[in-house]
Amino acid sequence: MLAENISVMSLASDLGLLLFPNYCSVCNRNLMHYEKAICLHCQSRLPRLQICNESDNLVERVFWGRVPLDSATALLRMPRNGVTHRLIHRLKYHNDQEVGERLGALLGHEMQQSTRMSAFDYIIPVPLHPKKMYVRGYNQCDCIAKGISEALNVGVLYGNLTRVQHTSSQTRRGRLSRWNNVKDIFWVKHPEVLENTRVLLVDDVITTGATIEACANALLKVDGIKLSAAALAVPG
Ligand SMILES: [Zn+2]
Repeated sequence: MLAENISVMSLASDLGLLLFPNYCSVCNRNLMHYEKAICLHCQSRLPRLQICNESDNLVERVFWGRVPLDSATALLRMPRNGVTHRLIHRLKYHNDQEVGERLGALLGHEMQQSTRMSAFDYIIPVPLHPKKMYVRGYNQCDCIAKGISEALNVGVLYGNLTRVQHTSSQTRRGRLSRWNNVKDIFWVKHPEVLENTRVLLVDDVITTGATIEACANALLKVDGIKLSAAALAVPG
């Protein structure tokens, strides 16, 4: 009976794919029912960093002397015009929310298997300003957080860390002007919720670290909080 149910479910899922085919976000090939957003072939070729278990790794070094993070990591390297770049672009500008969830899940599984980054009380995505949210329709960091959340079995906390003013695009700014652009624009609405908790802050790409630093400055005012950060990618 169970086997029949499974084959009926698998048939329904295959029919669903026939009616609404899904394509790999990298190579555009039809996905099999067991593949999500990225086919297994392309997934095996992603430029993974695998640094969750490394203390003083390249992401943690970005924040040395700036904010006391407990740990930090990223899933992929992002060389100019490479596959990571294309995937992040699809996530941010082409409504490919599934690729964010899938990469988030890969990062979450990697963290779950690590000894340093598997235990958190809350996951907090870096919030988008409501105006930007209105234009884009979704926060790409929410998609990543959802994937990590399912892999780690830790809830996502929305709306407590808040963004208070609109900033223009970060992409073409230098380090100092990026910092001036984001500092003091985050605040915590209900600090008592986060007292004495372990929080994982999630962003899409860590470049200068200015956004994570600004969020951390707001979050680290909470008593007893331990803060870590994770992103899909770092340049290089
Ligand atoms: Zn593919």
